[in-house]
Amino acid sequence: MAVRGTIDAGPFVGRGSFGAFDEGLDVISGPFVFDTQVLRRRVGTEKSFELVLDAPADLGLPVFGVPEGSPVELELRLEALMEGVLATGTASVHAVGECVRCLRDVEEDFDGDFQELYLYEDAGEDELALEDEYLDLEPVLRDAVVLALPHNPLCDPECPGLCPECGARLADDPDHTHGDAIDPRWSTLTQLTERPEE
Ligand SMILES: [Zn+2]
Ligand SMILES: [Zn+2]
Repeated sequence: MAVRGTIDAGPFVGRGSFGAFDEGLDVISGPFVFDTQVLRRRVGTEKSFELVLDAPADLGLPVFGVPEGSPVELELRLEALMEGVLATGTASVHAVGECVRCLRDVEEDFDGDFQELYLYEDAGEDELALEDEYLDLEPVLRDAVVLALPHNPLCDPECPGLCPECGARLADDPDHTHGDAIDPRWSTLTQLTERPEE
């Protein structure tokens, strides 16, 4: 049975927080840690499931991220191979941030795909390994989400940004100009700032 639906608020830690899903895969000690013992290291054995977990802190990018505690919809398949367990899936998140041109709030849904092999043993520097048959998906989830998010979020691909003179959003008022009229009280200052460097 696949579990779908939001989890009650609050952190959940501990074996069996979800009860049984898909024939006995338990979530243990942290939302993104999975017990792979059910696969018994038998090549070709696989388990798939869907669940919704709370986003950990700092998921995403500084400019565009997934709010902590917001739902992460996870589709995950764990498959026993010769040398380890292959984790394949998609994490769907709702990211929020600001347009880099006009600072307006931007919200969007993203899907991050991942496929990662967790070795049974002897993981090298850039490899992942199971720990006592437990698979910690969090680093893989983080990478998948970061790759899925735009590094320069825009409210609109054509966003004209802000007026350099007054800071108004040009999308709201595309034709506005400040002309050449400058308050005479500022003209001296203008001359000062425009004076070529000596
Ligand atoms: Zn914008
Ligand atoms: Zn302006």
